[in-house]
Amino acid sequence: MHEPKLIQLAASDPDLAALIEGEAQRQHDKLRMIASENYVSTAVLEATGTVLTNKYSEGYAGKRYYEGQQFVDQIELLAIERAKALFGADHANVQTYSGSPANLAIYLAFLDPGDTVLTMSLSSGGHLTHGSPVSVTGKWFRPVHYTVERETGRVDMSKVREMALAERPKLIICGGTAIPRTIDFPAFAEIAQEVGAILMADIAHIAGLVAGGAHPSPVGFADVVTTTTHKTLRGPRGAMIMAKAEHATAVDKAVFPGLQGGPHDHTTAGIAVALHEAAQPSFKDYAAQIVANAKALAAALTDHGFDLVSGGTDNHLVLVDLTNKGIGGKPAAKALDIAGIETNFNGVPFDTRRPLDPSGLRLGTPALTTRGLTEKHMPLVAAWMDRTVSAALNDDTSELAKIAGEVKELLSAFPMPGYTA
Ligand SMILES: *Cc1c(COP(=O)(O)O)cnc(C)c1O
Repeated sequence: MHEPKLIQLAASDPDLAALIEGEAQRQHDKLRMIASENYVSTAVLEATGTVLTNKYSEGYAGKRYYEGQQFVDQIELLAIERAKALFGADHANVQTYSGSPANLAIYLAFLDPGDTVLTMSLSSGGHLTHGSPVSVTGKWFRPVHYTVERETGRVDMSKVREMALAERPKLIICGGTAIPRTIDFPAFAEIAQEVGAILMADIAHIAGLVAGGAHPSPVGFADVVTTTTHKTLRGPRGAMIMAKAEHATAVDKAVFPGLQGGPHDHTTAGIAVALHEAAQPSFKDYAAQIVANAKALAAALTDHGFDLVSGGTDNHLVLVDLTNKGIGGKPAAKALDIAGIETNFNGVPFDTRRPLDPSGLRLGTPALTTRGLTEKHMPLVAAWMDRTVSAALNDDTSELAKIAGEVKELLSAFPMPGYTA
């Protein structure tokens, strides 16, 4: 059953309540390995499901356009102070609706249409909002992209520097959605300084690892840091922008009134809760365990002959190139889903297949670590994946169902926040 209980909803709208209960059960029974997903605490669920959703608060604390901000101002200031303390940032803006608008706010704050931005290519692990041609960031600005190296799966910083010197970007972005290796923030900062560019670190995926000390921090190196709050940071759907003091006004103006209207105050409260949780000593253990689990998973997958981009991982994410297994990423992901293991198909660097039917599979350990799984379970997870790929190639649906049963059986011993049996 969902926790908090859906008592009123079940009475007033049983169809919808049943769908939400179904999703809670699904999240409980399956091994959730989508690298950008997690389970938030019941406290975060409670904060986001409050009367704060009724309030309008355009502006910033002490400078609002609507009355009645006696409590909302304090809530937003609490979230800001917690963000600044946790990451050691000069300035924090907690109003952006999600990661994509947070990134767009940075373009708005520092660029004019047509300006050059240097970012990691989508196929090497960058994000759509880093200048993909289908994104507004690619249509209205002039993106140039660095990539990983074909042989190593890693970025060669000397090539990033060469591109920066040749292209003279106004903005350089580091970070992405499918990067299994540590990002060298000091090296990016040095290049940005040399060419007079603003450096933005997009830590949407790794914010929880940074907060927990399991990945180096960009704070002090990047001019601005954007992040979602709902991935490894384990908060509600939302985002934050952190900035050096000199950029505080530009960032705040870009978010409001530049891009958005009223902030989602219930989300702000949920972010404040998550930041408080991330400041506890136990969150350091959580962050370290995410990485330990990913490394153990990478080793176990390698033992089963899986080919990993860059040969392994430094963080929460493993990118598998399935070419040598004779199966595409999409059929593999679909089979894994039937086998109770939730992943997403993903391109690999220099992929020869199409984006909707790519060669890779992206795996992450943030959610299963929240459930309490440790290194010792990762060989079993890798073995399930290997069996699933074989079963998919042999059209063996009963084997997939058998694996799903084993997954559910294991997970029944690991409580899920937001659910009670
Ligand atoms: C997830 C992600 C985003 C976008 O976040 P949304 O909340 O989905 O808009 C931006 N940048 C990176 C690197 C991401 O991983």
